[in-house]
This record gives sequence, C-alpha cells and structure tokens, in this order.
Amino acid sequence: MNPIGIFGGTFDPIHFGHLRTAFELLQALELAELRFVPAGNPPHRDVPLADAGLRLAMVRAAIDGQPGFAVDDREVRREGPSYTVTTLAELRTESPERPVCLVVGMDAFLGLHRWHKWREILGLAHVAVAHRPGWRVPTDGALGALLGERGTNRVADLREAGAGRIFVHPVTQLEISSTDLRNIIVSGRDPRYLVPDAVREIIRKTGCYSRKATR
Ligand code: ATP
Repeated sequence: MNPIGIFGGTFDPIHFGHLRTAFELLQALELAELRFVPAGNPPHRDVPLADAGLRLAMVRAAIDGQPGFAVDDREVRREGPSYTVTTLAELRTESPERPVCLVVGMDAFLGLHRWHKWREILGLAHVAVAHRPGWRVPTDGALGALLGERGTNRVADLREAGAGRIFVHPVTQLEISSTDLRNIIVSGRDPRYLVPDAVREIIRKTGCYSRKATR
C-alpha cells in the first residue's frame, strides 16, 4: 500500500520551497497523498506572526486544485502544543494498514532528537528528508547512527513496512525561508515569485506581516 505523506510546519507563510519539495516527494516516494499539517502552537520556537487560522487559509489557497495535495487541520484544532508524535499516533489509529511517511527538510531532521518523544516517531512513521540549502546529511552523533541503521534509498521499502525507515532525497534546492519572507514583507518589499499569487494576496489583504515586528 502506498504511504501517505505528512508535511508538518509552521507555514508562516507557506512558500515555493515547501511546495516544490512536497511536489517532488509526492512523485518520488509514490505517495498516495501528501497532507500539509500546519502547527497550531509549534513547540520549541517563537509564537508565529500569523495566527493559526490565517496560516491554514494560506496553505489551503496555496495547494488549491493540486491533485495529491491535501490539508489536515487537526493540529490547529487541537488544544496545547502541536506535537508531531500525537498526530502520527492518531493517523496510525485511523488507518492502521497504511504506511505513513513524515516529510521534513534537512534542518528539521537535524533537530529531530529534540522533538517530543522523538524515538517513538520512527515506530509510527517513516521519515523522508529533503535536502535544504546550507544543511548537510549528518554522518555522526545520534542522527548519523540512526541514518546508518534505518536509511534506505529503495522506495519499495516505504510500502513494504509501515514505519521505521529514513529516506533522504535531493529535491531542487530553493533557498527560500519563511523568516526571509517575513523580513522582505516587513521592509516593504514584494514577496512575488517566492509565494503563490493567492498567498501573496492574503498577505496583502490582511497585512498579517507588514505591521508587526519581524522575528
Ligand atoms: P522559518 O524560517 O520560519 O523557520 P521555514 O521556511 O523553515 O520557516 P517551516 O514552516 O518552519 O518553514 O518548515 C516546515 C518544513 O518545511 C520543515 O521540515 C522545513 O525543513 C521544510 N522547509 C522549509 N523551507 C524549505 C525549503 N526551502 N526547502 C526544503 N525544505 C524546506
């Protein structure tokens, strides 16, 4: 059974670095579907500038009409910190037979050992890691060892087991980040061609980044 992909993030705002990465992984990993899961209250980072409802609306607008892409709003609806392990456990209960593949960029993977109950994550899902400009594959430490044990470059392994493998994939490198985007907008510049037009329009109409101090 082809896995579903889960792409979590703050998406403050969503940009073409997220979208192109998700699209390439949807194809390369032969995912049945890729679900964007915006975090309601992301732990281990500053409070997002745009509220959760707006970040969710931007994700919906960004993926509108793209077959294979979907939005899952459970972390926005859930009270308390948005722990990925909780989301993955819920998905396993909902579809026990279907493998789940958690999609992360290399920067996020390098911080995986600081995530809540991180060792449980590989018992619930595979992890697909997308290269990101400026971040290298770990070769030592806990994550280097984990990659040695669990790494695979066979897509079939992601279908054959329900969870537990790590797949590193070299997606097109787009040096775009939400932090840079917020800085661009707050300084009065136009984020055009870095975000979909529909997202740019929401940012323009709501002024969600332009009036506040940036982080
Ligand atoms: P910020 O600058 O606010 O930290 P971000 O651009 O890293 O934001 P997030 O919403 O924090 O965006 O990221 C969600 C996921 O998308 C993470 O796993 C991150 O590694 C990945 N990601 C973000 N931007 C890119 C990119 N340009 N290329 C590949 N992966 C990316």
